[in-house]
Amino acid sequence: KGDPRLEAISAAIRVVPNFPKNGIMFQDITTLLLDHKAFKHTVDIFVDRYKDMQISVVAGVEARGFMFGPSIALAIGAKFVPLRKPGKLPGKVISESYELEYGHDRLEMHVDAVEPRERVIIIDDLVATGGTLSAAISLMESQGAVVVECACVIGLPEVKGQHKLKGKPLYVLVEPS
Ligand code: AMP
Repeated sequence: KGDPRLEAISAAIRVVPNFPKNGIMFQDITTLLLDHKAFKHTVDIFVDRYKDMQISVVAGVEARGFMFGPSIALAIGAKFVPLRKPGKLPGKVISESYELEYGHDRLEMHVDAVEPRERVIIIDDLVATGGTLSAAISLMESQGAVVVECACVIGLPEVKGQHKLKGKPLYVLVEPS
């Protein structure tokens, strides 16, 4: 903290009350993507953190993990693996369900996307309960990959998700103001 880049990142995130439904304070990162400097700061901070950690896989969670993951992967010399909503991937997939506030959803990954013992970071825009990231961790671990850390631009302070991340470290840049 105390990093002026984090202030710029916070300032570039738009908060939309009551979207997509009443009571949700939606953290909109599309305005961060419009701000070239803040967008670059975001990618740079993750790249600095992960470039010397022998990471060979950056896994991004559909859809907003796709907006940050590939830039980080290219910069650190890793491959990018999309973790997708059901029915989108054409190859052989493994699937993991997770709880939502109401009901449940699923994430899928191509089984040939990672090798056993590869070192992975998993990226999404935001962690709330940690349910989504936990499903992503399970997918990777089912293939023998090593999840080094989960990384998010935004961490909701009340739920941060740590308890649900299967013991994996969580790295977040900002908390909603
Ligand atoms: P969770 O699985 O509870 O940690 O929820 C994280 C997922 O839901 C991420 O993929 C987020 O993009 C999305 N999400 C949850 N809450 C919010 C919010 N307040 N603003 C924007 N996205 C959210």
